[in-house]
Amino acid sequence: MPDQPSCANEFDPKALTVEEAVEQGLGAVEAIDTAERVPVRDALDRVCGRPVSAPFDVPRHVNAAMDGYALSSADLPDEGSRRLEVVGTALAGHPFGGRLDSGQCVRIMTGAVVPQGADTVVMQEQVEAGEASIDVGHGHRQGENVRRPGEDLTRGTTVTEAGQRLGPADLGLLASLGIAEIDVLRRPVVAFFSTGDELRGVGQVLQQGEIYDSNRYTLGALLRRCHTQVMDMGTVPDDRLALRDALTRATETADVVLTSGGVSVGAADYVTDLLAELGSVEFWKIAMKPGRPLAFGRLGQALFFGLPGNPVSVMATFAILVRPVLERLAGYRGAGPLILPARATHPIKKRPGRKDYQRGILSRDGDGHAAVSTTGLQGSHVLSSMSRANCFIVLERDRADVEPGEQVDVMPFTELC
Ligand code: AMP
Ligand code: MG
Repeated sequence: MPDQPSCANEFDPKALTVEEAVEQGLGAVEAIDTAERVPVRDALDRVCGRPVSAPFDVPRHVNAAMDGYALSSADLPDEGSRRLEVVGTALAGHPFGGRLDSGQCVRIMTGAVVPQGADTVVMQEQVEAGEASIDVGHGHRQGENVRRPGEDLTRGTTVTEAGQRLGPADLGLLASLGIAEIDVLRRPVVAFFSTGDELRGVGQVLQQGEIYDSNRYTLGALLRRCHTQVMDMGTVPDDRLALRDALTRATETADVVLTSGGVSVGAADYVTDLLAELGSVEFWKIAMKPGRPLAFGRLGQALFFGLPGNPVSVMATFAILVRPVLERLAGYRGAGPLILPARATHPIKKRPGRKDYQRGILSRDGDGHAAVSTTGLQGSHVLSSMSRANCFIVLERDRADVEPGEQVDVMPFTELC
């Protein structure tokens, strides 16, 4: 029975569901609406601030889709073949200035303007070319190999929408319209630091019981992949004054402050007091694995997430809870991460009570279907499981052990982790 606390499950009636936590997070943010104008070349991955519409048709001119001969469909034979006089050449960027008369054609290259009097391009491979004439056979269609104006974009259509993240194709599309600059939204500034007396920076010598601060590397990279402006504030010891100072400095400039470590049960009580003193922060118990507990709220103007310290928990809570909030803040209005069905190739251990984000390896089985297995040991300290994985296996809160062949949801890491 998943809805009763017992030693066979992890049901906690006071815990928030993942969906409730995401909703509360999203409810606390308003999208940034200050736009800045940037060269289109620099707009990759930025969020479009205002809709852009096409000032003219693309293509602008009737043009050839193939190398061949531009001719009038009236000259196409119904049977046998017909000889046409070649009266000139049209190259991309060098139109044929004249007008075709009956019985004439023009040698034309891909992208060149189809001359007046012509409405069809016959591929060069499909004609018999002579010195100054061609023989064209029957069976051709009026308008073949001709691109019409506006086939790509018609004047006035929206090319990029507000809230859309600009990809390589969008930059090209804007350039095809001669647009040199675009209004994009300011990127959120996210300050983050790690907490823990045991943490040392890479390059330092470890004493007994000390570990390297890996969360700053994963978090910094996740934030960059989220297209935020990142302020790495280093490692802060478990010390009230140091923590107070770091939090105060972070909230002065950042839209969002992220910390890792120090919010678990057993962490020093002053963290709770400190967060209460500097703002309004709740400690969330989320029915999620890995990843509880988590602190969320406001410190001054900034949103605050106090993530757990364990390296896998950091990455999972970031991907599932923080990322949607950062995207909403950034003004991004696109779809969330993709969730796909896959068959489990092996048994997966799962106790009801928490929604589980296990590390998975997604592939295609022999029949071409999506298949997934776990990376093995699933402890929240096993960062190598994240490194080997290419997806989360998402197991619903009430689900129990998964047998081989059962269908599960997977969340591919593409862009996510
Ligand atoms: P905490 O949430 O501070 O109780 O930390 C939980 C676990 O995560 C402990 O084993 C910590 O040593 C570990 N941990 C905390 N912060 C980091 C970090 N920045 N890098 C690697 N491990 C960490
Ligand atoms: Mg700690």
